[in-house]
Amino acid sequence: MKKIAPHWQIIIALIAAVVVASLLKLVDTSPAVTSTLKVLGLIGDLFIQALKMIIVPLVVSSIIAGLAGLAGFDGFKRMGLKTLGFYLVSTLSAVVLGLFIVNTIQPGLIDGQPNTELLEVFNNAPSETSDADKARFTDGQQSQAADWTAIFKRMLPSNIVKAAAEGQLLGILVFSLMFGIAMTQFPSKQMEPMKDFFQSLNDVMIKITHWIMLCAPFGIFGMMVNTVYNSGADVFLLLAPYFITVLIALALHMFVVLPLLLKFIGKISPIAHLKAMKTALLTAFSTSSSSATLPVTMRCVQDNAGVSKKTASFTLPLGATVNMDGTALYECIAVMFVAQVMGLEMGFAAQMLVVISALLTSIGVAGVPSASMVAILIIMNNCGIPGAEKAILALFAVDRLLDMSRTAVNVFGDSCAAVVIAKHEGEELHPTYTK
Ligand code: ASP
Repeated sequence: MKKIAPHWQIIIALIAAVVVASLLKLVDTSPAVTSTLKVLGLIGDLFIQALKMIIVPLVVSSIIAGLAGLAGFDGFKRMGLKTLGFYLVSTLSAVVLGLFIVNTIQPGLIDGQPNTELLEVFNNAPSETSDADKARFTDGQQSQAADWTAIFKRMLPSNIVKAAAEGQLLGILVFSLMFGIAMTQFPSKQMEPMKDFFQSLNDVMIKITHWIMLCAPFGIFGMMVNTVYNSGADVFLLLAPYFITVLIALALHMFVVLPLLLKFIGKISPIAHLKAMKTALLTAFSTSSSSATLPVTMRCVQDNAGVSKKTASFTLPLGATVNMDGTALYECIAVMFVAQVMGLEMGFAAQMLVVISALLTSIGVAGVPSASMVAILIIMNNCGIPGAEKAILALFAVDRLLDMSRTAVNVFGDSCAAVVIAKHEGEELHPTYTK
């Protein structure tokens, strides 16, 4: 029998999840439904946990083995500068696009006036926001928001084992970069055993990723049944203009801006690249986590796009940590939307502050579900927007689908950098790219 391609398996799982969740909603709250949701939720949790389980060894081994394999320090410097340059250009264009769209559509206003119905939703803590969301948001996150310097502190963790245990990718990334660069400073004979070790560790992690992805359709099905079942409909309608604004801006970035960068900076066919990344994009969409998707992104970029291990190992872990186009764009729209609803005048200086804050905070946001909500709070506090906490709780009610979409954009942005840098480094991409 012909094997169904991985991205089709995921699409079928997503459709089946919507159908099953709608059926369960019809039956409503019988104990059988509760137990079914619990079992399916467990399957989903196990899938995400398995992906998270391999992130730390995968990132550490791929960066160290990749850097140690780079010929001389010069090669690294060149690739590093190109990668950071691409990330800066793509994130900046995302933020500016977000700002333009939110100012054009003005989803927080009706006939030029603040939408009072929405203000009501912001003022009364929304009943649709689940208790779990509220707890997740208020426990510790608000105190973090007051201290934006934490982003920089996380880059140099005082205890690398603790950073690894807490999944702090930014600290692990900086440490692995230092480790790999330090290795290049010794005679290669002396470093050979260490290089072999990290290379083999990386190969093993890639094998485990393959096994986990075989279970993806079941994990994604279990997770999505719960997500669809729990989403409330009323607040969706009220926030529809906001919702649509975000989706339009994300779609423009993914299907217009990034393809233009691919075409003009990399001379790469955007369609071929979108096709190559199907499985990673669907995994990002289903998991809402660019960190958890990283193993899949690395596989797609190497197997389907033909990027070398060296380039993929450097650009992708870095991108999954610091480059979040979708998140930066979203932060910008969310802050401006709340300001519109509250009737606050955001002049040029205030909007520039939003742009810079969105750029900086998107670097520090972790690649996990709803992580940008904390960043939005930081920006609102910076801009002096009152009652920010309540507004964010309201946005939480519709965050899931937006989170899924912006995570896919985040992952696509990283993958674009990988293929563009590979092309500039003279690598031969997969034959589908030249067809
Ligand atoms: N969920 C996003 C990601 O993992 C982060 C966010 O914007 O909340 O990339």
